[in-house]
Amino acid sequence: MNIIYLSSEVTPFAKTGGLADVAGSLPKDLQQAGVNMHIFMPNHKNIDKNKFNLKMVLRKVRLKLGKKTKEVNLFQGYLPDSTVPVYFIDKELYFNRKGLYQENGQDYPDNAERFAFFCLAALECLKILNIKPDIVHCNDWQTSLSIIYLKTIFKNTPFFQNTKTLLTLHNLAYQGLFAKEKINDLFLTENLYSPTKLEFYDKINLLKGGIVYTDLINTVSKTHSQEIQTKKFGCGLDGVLTQRKDSLYGIRNGLDYLTWNPATDQNIAQKYDPDSLNLKAPNKQKLMQLNNFPYQEHTPVISIISRLVPEKGFELILEKLPEILNMDIKFIVLGQGLPKIESQLQKLAEQFPEKLRVHLKHDENLARYIYAGSDIFLIPSKFEPCGLSQMISLKYGTVPIAYPTGGLKDTIIDIDQNYEKGNGYFFQNYTSSDFIKTLQRALHCYHNDKIKWIQAQRNGMFQDLSWTASAKEYIKLYEKLMVNKNVATKSCVKAIS
Ligand code: ADP
Repeated sequence: MNIIYLSSEVTPFAKTGGLADVAGSLPKDLQQAGVNMHIFMPNHKNIDKNKFNLKMVLRKVRLKLGKKTKEVNLFQGYLPDSTVPVYFIDKELYFNRKGLYQENGQDYPDNAERFAFFCLAALECLKILNIKPDIVHCNDWQTSLSIIYLKTIFKNTPFFQNTKTLLTLHNLAYQGLFAKEKINDLFLTENLYSPTKLEFYDKINLLKGGIVYTDLINTVSKTHSQEIQTKKFGCGLDGVLTQRKDSLYGIRNGLDYLTWNPATDQNIAQKYDPDSLNLKAPNKQKLMQLNNFPYQEHTPVISIISRLVPEKGFELILEKLPEILNMDIKFIVLGQGLPKIESQLQKLAEQFPEKLRVHLKHDENLARYIYAGSDIFLIPSKFEPCGLSQMISLKYGTVPIAYPTGGLKDTIIDIDQNYEKGNGYFFQNYTSSDFIKTLQRALHCYHNDKIKWIQAQRNGMFQDLSWTASAKEYIKLYEKLMVNKNVATKSCVKAIS
């Protein structure tokens, strides 16, 4: 089975969020299970060709893009510690940029054209390399156009005759919305700007187009696959998704335990496992030292590692932070995002220099020290399709506090509801008062019931959130596409007619 996995970001080459982690780990597990994986991604500016030993495999290939002709190069490397080939679509004009999608909080104005180029170039390169895909597996809006091209421009192309498509929805909040005039930049031969296709409230919506045209869809947790069919979580696409509910699945993301495991992590101060939890203390010490805080064993360290955007719950945090900072705690934030949130956090850090550190950058090494050295991890997202950071914090014995939505609901169990399996804390109402009460509940346990606290830590560390089970579910979906070709195609046609 030949699977072409398209992603705009892949760890360790380029990353802004969880999509990159998934794209850098799931294909390895699938390949090990006998599936033939090929990843395609853009050759973003900062990818180090020497470090990753990338070789140019196609040079100055001329591509016909609608009425235009453009040249593209293709580099190839491998996912580290694997035999999974990764192909890098190389086009300076589009990908030699400081950011992946934006700079200084502003999206690049030619994003539609950039990712249209990526999608079309990837499919054209497959033809030149003679890699016949059984399935093109796309991720989010950036790669949705590949599905649309396969079902329109390439509909009658013999090379793609047996190619099926799967679209994974990692985050519905980002849909690839563009002004309708941009339709001319998408290299399409027919006009797809209509309400049953790409049109969405007077704009082009690339994710909607992917959802409408793809054979099967999945999102990254079971709970979220139900949530997105409702008004509250559907981000305006609930109607389209409900129409396609027979083709919609939920598969929880996995965590790559080769990368994220405190028992083997070379980048933390002291390795530890569920049976040597006392060795978490040197990590807390190191974290305090890195943050210029005095080390006090009994002072709880609360952390957040997150994109600084509203849906991650920063309204809630910012509203309650002064109150939290008056408690006997230390608080560490690592993240980048909206300038407004960044400056509010910075101001608070100036106001509470003995309690709060704010690191406005992307820094995986610091992230590891934080996961290993903190006691409590906050992830108060309003919605969370799956969430990787809570899975990492669970593995590192750092107890998460969250709102029970999406993947958070599927991976965290409140210790006060279930002592045997509990690994964290939930606030049931999305209000700042319920959030702070829950934090107090956790702090009370931390200070007064060490046995229960350790139980929560150990439950989290022992939980199996690896890719093993989830990779099997992806293979089942792939097999469904291969075997059930007619059924999948029918439901797609029904949705777009
Ligand atoms: P999302 O994909 O919505 O951003 P996830 O929880 O699924 O959220 O994944 C976030 C990933 O990015 C986690 O691996 C987290 O550790 C990492 N991360 C987020 N912000 C930073 C940062 N500033 N520095 C280092 N890693 C970060």
